[in-house]
Amino acid sequence: MNAVQRQSRFEQDDEVVVMKFGGTSVQDAAAIERLIGIVKSRSSERPVVVVSALARVTDQLLEAGKSAANGHLGAALEAVRHIYVRHEALADSLVHGSAYGSLNSKLREEFRALESLLEKVEFSRELDAKTRDRLLGFGERFSSLLVSDALHEAGLPAAHVDAQCCIVTDDRHGQASPLWDITNQRTCEEVGPLLQKSVIPVFGGFIAATVDGVPTTLGRGGSDFSASILGAALGASRIEIWTDVDGVMTTDPKLCADARVIRKMSFEEAAELAHYGAKVLHPATLAPAMRENIPVYVLNSRRPNGEGTEIVARASSVKRVSAITAKRNVAAVEVSSSHGINSDLLGQVFAAFDEQSCSVDVMAASLGRISLLVGTSVELPQIATKLRGVADVKWENHRALICLVGENIRREPEVASRAFAAVSDLDVRVLCQGASDRTISFLVEESKAQESVQRLHRVFFPNAETVSDWGGISSAFCQAG
Ligand code: ADP
Ligand code: ASP
Ligand code: MG
Repeated sequence: MNAVQRQSRFEQDDEVVVMKFGGTSVQDAAAIERLIGIVKSRSSERPVVVVSALARVTDQLLEAGKSAANGHLGAALEAVRHIYVRHEALADSLVHGSAYGSLNSKLREEFRALESLLEKVEFSRELDAKTRDRLLGFGERFSSLLVSDALHEAGLPAAHVDAQCCIVTDDRHGQASPLWDITNQRTCEEVGPLLQKSVIPVFGGFIAATVDGVPTTLGRGGSDFSASILGAALGASRIEIWTDVDGVMTTDPKLCADARVIRKMSFEEAAELAHYGAKVLHPATLAPAMRENIPVYVLNSRRPNGEGTEIVARASSVKRVSAITAKRNVAAVEVSSSHGINSDLLGQVFAAFDEQSCSVDVMAASLGRISLLVGTSVELPQIATKLRGVADVKWENHRALICLVGENIRREPEVASRAFAAVSDLDVRVLCQGASDRTISFLVEESKAQESVQRLHRVFFPNAETVSDWGGISSAFCQAG
């Protein structure tokens, strides 16, 4: 791996490397042992570790919150007990003696706070966005305490750092955005002294807090974003995203068995791919890395010696498909007005979506009509009611947005024609013109998503070869859910 030589914010010659481990990479004792080995292999640099919650814990916390809000406190506390038992068993196998006692008491304190939060939810019968952020953040609080002590037990000088004291965000609960200056300042203040003593800081990903200390989260899958926020703040020489696949692939390998690893791609391509649903990276991850020109590597924690994918600034002028994504759970929305479309109407429409914390994916406008794509979880009936008298809102659920990603592919008419020839019998509804030359996307019935991806993959990646450094007409398709 060719690390770009950069200078961290601390001492000359320091090479800070931010290493993020996702849920499956901390899911059990064997995974955490592998993590320890990987961090050890970087100990001559200055590793900063970011961990997600243990696999499935965030979903379980969300379910517990919903149970409590529905008055089923018993079920909620039972779920918490399972989560506790899992962490306690890991603590028992990874940490010993007095260190185990101290970890166990820290975990117990956190679990008590979680239980009392669920009791409050049951009492109020409401799980609002602010409470949900506090609730979901417990997963990363538990895992980071555990991993920090496990690293220490393995002889590495690790120290837990509270991400909620470093990453400061706005109060858009569920999808908060960092306030960069204060985040950079606090991160350097907290982490700088540790790095100077060669201590390895261990953060929970995904979690942050407002300036007033109210817990927020960076959106589902947000630990990747935490890693790049911290990497940018610390002037890291690289950011490593350790996950359960060999790198960014031509499509989601869960959808298409022929998917293969992309060795190298540009920040922009990776950002489009993530935006259009490739779950392997949170959509906001690339922006801070791009801004600070920090290379990002996506690597498999089960195969630490693999090459993975290198994401860097170099742009390619080759016109070729580099990835295919399929974003499911999409609703196609049409907003029409007999008074025509003007800036006043657009303002009201966007305000109505914004009020429901809903980000709008793609937009096209024609006479008297705007077409939007949003996630199906959005409260469309509320939005329609809000806009009553202003505009008429209609929608169709159960759609999937299929997207071809690649440098300049829109300038190569053959790409679109080959793509449409491959799927023309699948009731392709809408051609979505994204703003960049890097994407061509269209909408299909959700039930046709996998077949669409597989057919396109056969067209653009006909040979079972590894996708190499920006060569050929195609180098990746991706899918996400
Ligand atoms: P982590 O828990 O490590 O953050 P995620 O589950 O969030 O891992 O992301 C990894 C998953 O992303 C893979 O298991 C894979 O199914 C999915 N994925 C979707 N699109 C792609 C793609 N283009 N390349 C690689 N993985 C992808
Ligand atoms: N644990 C969080 C989630 O499941 C964040 C992450 O895994 O990156 O969404
Ligand atoms: Mg993830």
